[in-house]
Amino acid sequence: MPLSPILRACLVLLLVCPGSGPTRAGADVFAPPAIKRLVAAYPEAIEEIDEGWLVWRDGSRMQIDDGKGIKSFRAWLDDPDIEDMLRLSYPAGADDVPPPPEYDPGRARNAAFFDKMYGDCRKGEVKPRLTTVTWLPRKTRQRLEVTTVNGVAARLAAVSQELDRLPPEFDKFLLPAGGTYNCRVIAGTSRVSAHGYGIAIDIAVRQSDYWRWAPDALSGNIVYRNRIPLEIVHIFERHGFIWGGRWHHYDTMHFEYRPELLPPIAPLERTAPGHSLDNAAPNGAPLKK
Ligand SMILES: [Zn+2]
Repeated sequence: MPLSPILRACLVLLLVCPGSGPTRAGADVFAPPAIKRLVAAYPEAIEEIDEGWLVWRDGSRMQIDDGKGIKSFRAWLDDPDIEDMLRLSYPAGADDVPPPPEYDPGRARNAAFFDKMYGDCRKGEVKPRLTTVTWLPRKTRQRLEVTTVNGVAARLAAVSQELDRLPPEFDKFLLPAGGTYNCRVIAGTSRVSAHGYGIAIDIAVRQSDYWRWAPDALSGNIVYRNRIPLEIVHIFERHGFIWGGRWHHYDTMHFEYRPELLPPIAPLERTAPGHSLDNAAPNGAPLKK
């Protein structure tokens, strides 16, 4: 039965204000103060939050709030400040229930923050920090390029190892992976995709759904659709990757490393024996600019 507009608004409020009421079934909704999670999520890059400023380990500072107040959905997506990136709670571990309208947790990315963290691919700053990860080494040995910054490559290698142990019926959702690093803008925008930072992966395209492929999507009539099993989603989430299937503007093949939106993940085990990270490079520090 479709939700009434009032019920839908209430659901959005509950999701935006975790801790103020019940959460979605099975969800492990991350509680505020979310901004402090940036320090815990990116310990190699971020020193502290200081009176409205984010302080990087190289001493540079970024303003957390641009002073523009609560933004429209379009402004939130196109021009988010650092605070806006954390405005919507991400329901880690939840079922794949259709997200409420305009509920896209993690889809707003502050460009200055990500350029500082991973580099600007249009200036050639991302490529030197990439390494290759062998995808599902027991099944394909497809090689994928991802960044070493923040240990993303090692995290994806750990995801790959877990996925590799799933039964064969999961293979069609994972193989071949659609791609990782790609210096491109998001379709229909001038914003660099998470793929341009080397932090994202698309799994098998054939079994995926994307809001822009839905009939009448561009006129705002977005009907949620997902075929990706939650077993796969939950493995990614446990290693710090959010899923595009949790967005109203869904992209079910898409995962990206966004640990600030997830419950804390265990520190990386460096040089773990048998892990499938090729040409392992030390984690990069954020770019000095
Ligand atoms: Zn993607």
